[in-house]
Amino acid sequence: MIFFYGIKNKHLKTSALNANQIQCQHCHSGNMLMSIVGRYAHFFWIPLFSIGKTGVSHCEHCKQVLRKREFTPQLNQEFIQLKQEVKAPFWFYIGLIAIGILFILPILTSLFFWLIN
Ligand SMILES: [Zn+2]
Repeated sequence: MIFFYGIKNKHLKTSALNANQIQCQHCHSGNMLMSIVGRYAHFFWIPLFSIGKTGVSHCEHCKQVLRKREFTPQLNQEFIQLKQEVKAPFWFYIGLIAIGILFILPILTSLFFWLIN
């Protein structure tokens, strides 16, 4: 079933984790990656606003993927750090901006005509 409103995810950034500090719980390899995923509400597939970020870690050696709720305290710390570096792109808010313009434009045009008369 297709929903014309809801929540979508968009990959924002992937970064390698420090091999000396963080190792995979499963295979103890140091080749870990952390991805930050931005989440936004959409209406008819038009992004309305950002509703935060989530993350996944993946091991390049054994391919184990951990979601945010499965993170170790160490991984969680890395996630919080990386999350602060990544900003949600402006187009996550394009729907709200369009709605804002639709409300502001008539006010500005009526103000303009009131001023020139
Ligand atoms: Zn691994």
